[in-house]
Amino acid sequence: VLLPPEPGLPYLRGGAAGRQRTDPGSIAVREGRVAALVADPAADRRLDASGCALVPGLVDCHTHLPFAGWRADEYALKVAGAGYEEIARRGGGIRRTAKALAEASDEEVLAQSRDLAGEALRLGTTAFETKSGYGLSREAELRSLRLAGRLAAEVPQAVTRTALLAHALPEGRSADEWMDEVEAMLPEVVAAGAEALDAYVESIAFTNAHLERMGALARDAGLALRAHVEQFASHGSVPVAIAAGARSVDHCSFLPPEEAPLLAAAECAAVLLPSAELLGEERTAPGRALMDAGAICALATDLNPGTSPVASLPLVIGLAVRRYRWTPEEAFAACTLNAAWVLGRSADVGSLEPGKRADLVVLDGPIDRVPYRLGHDPVVAVVVAGDVVHLRAGAEGRLRP
Ligand SMILES: [Zn+2]
Repeated sequence: VLLPPEPGLPYLRGGAAGRQRTDPGSIAVREGRVAALVADPAADRRLDASGCALVPGLVDCHTHLPFAGWRADEYALKVAGAGYEEIARRGGGIRRTAKALAEASDEEVLAQSRDLAGEALRLGTTAFETKSGYGLSREAELRSLRLAGRLAAEVPQAVTRTALLAHALPEGRSADEWMDEVEAMLPEVVAAGAEALDAYVESIAFTNAHLERMGALARDAGLALRAHVEQFASHGSVPVAIAAGARSVDHCSFLPPEEAPLLAAAECAAVLLPSAELLGEERTAPGRALMDAGAICALATDLNPGTSPVASLPLVIGLAVRRYRWTPEEAFAACTLNAAWVLGRSADVGSLEPGKRADLVVLDGPIDRVPYRLGHDPVVAVVVAGDVVHLRAGAEGRLRP
């Protein structure tokens, strides 16, 4: 059983991730919550996890669900040498997915998103973030948030909603004009259930000044601030994001390692996205430097139809261990408790502690097999709020009445 170094921690900063323990033991669950870290002899159902590792449900704190369609042809172009900015300028990229979303019915968008949430669930994801950002108009961004709300009601996972209102520039607007519209639509965004605002700072997107403004809007609206930064170039956005009160800075591939201490001194997580780095042949984020400096490090899939069509956190754990030279314990902390903190949920999920929601994953071997057996599906069973929602074929005998 993978346990935090001590109970009640909101996140595991730097070296604390390595002080998690893997102890032999059992978990008792009552009314959907972890009741105790010992077996309950009076339990009416048992899940036999002998020979397995029991870890907290995985938390994917950066996805772009809900979206419509795929862009496999762009991946082929990318592999042949076309850059992200070139693809975007040729009408591909975010605008193309925005068009696909606009043309898809609500039911079509929900069907694809539900399938992906189901795929992620079978791979151990028991909580995930959704983002708007493929709307690119007031009405379409609000529709996206409403669809995310419907998705949340239809899947077993805990789902949070982020309004990525500065993603790509809507046709025919300046970035400043669009930010005025963002400001005007905020009451509706809050009413649609958004818990965070997000901005994408890049040469083809928005600037640090827009990130600052998004931070002020988030503060006024009582929402968290997230930011996509330093993905394809260094724009010096991390200190700006921290000053703007960001809960997380995501990507950080081009973060200069000497800026890692800034994150170590801030309550702002570095959300690293190694599958996007791999598939885009991007630079590798300074994951080891961030961990050693004492930053709050998180990991996510960045699930989206362009840069990372990946739903598997076990795969992301494997990539993170190799690319960032993290230990398996560090990688698990990054996509359990720390990811839950990024979503504002670490008091409820992210670790195996009495009182928390009973979101558990049973793995078919010790945790260090997950990064080592890259591409293997290690998940035997998934439990959400005390219910067994997935059991690997052949493992039915482990569940006893
Ligand atoms: Zn993203």
